Amino acid sequence: MQIRVHAVEKNVTVLGPGRRFGIWVQGCPRKCPGCMSPETWDPNGGMIYETQELAEKFLQSGCDGMTISGGEPFLQPEALAEVIRLSGNPGVIIYTGFLYEELLRRPDAAALLAVCDMLVDGPFLEDLRDGKNLRGSSNQRAVLLTDRYQETAASFGTLPTKIEFFLHDDVTHLIGIPSPEWLERMKKIKW
Ligand code: SF4
Repeated sequence: MQIRVHAVEKNVTVLGPGRRFGIWVQGCPRKCPGCMSPETWDPNGGMIYETQELAEKFLQSGCDGMTISGGEPFLQPEALAEVIRLSGNPGVIIYTGFLYEELLRRPDAAALLAVCDMLVDGPFLEDLRDGKNLRGSSNQRAVLLTDRYQETAASFGTLPTKIEFFLHDDVTHLIGIPSPEWLERMKKIKW
């Protein structure tokens, strides 16, 4: 099975506990104003991976868990569920623009929900951006699907947000959701 992905990054520390393998899927129809990653919107963009290939990347990374974001992960639920299964069912935190209640009504979401541990739900609302950890805006919720990430869910939205940069030869990844203050500070950086 194949999956369309925008980016992957290993050893991410700002999107959940431990060292995480980040997967950003390609394709999102929501077009939220202020979205930090509009380059993930095009459903025909990004890269195609075999699910097995992506799982092997996770297994070789030595990461403790997986965080999946986008783009909209629940537009490729079957392929993501397969990546997670082939990865040996690690701890999974998944971000979505859907509400949990909406996903419960979507038959195609059930298999992916069944292999995830924590869901961060709801669209990014720029007016509610609050610079808190693990979320883009205060309407978003941490929904526990298993008890694996109870501590993470308890601290969700209670601490200042963190961001990190990964510098590669061909691309720089900014991970995390910068607060408005951080965005202003970054505009003033002389590169
Ligand atoms: S749901 Fe996420 S990826 Fe999609 S437009 Fe909104 S913020 Fe961007």
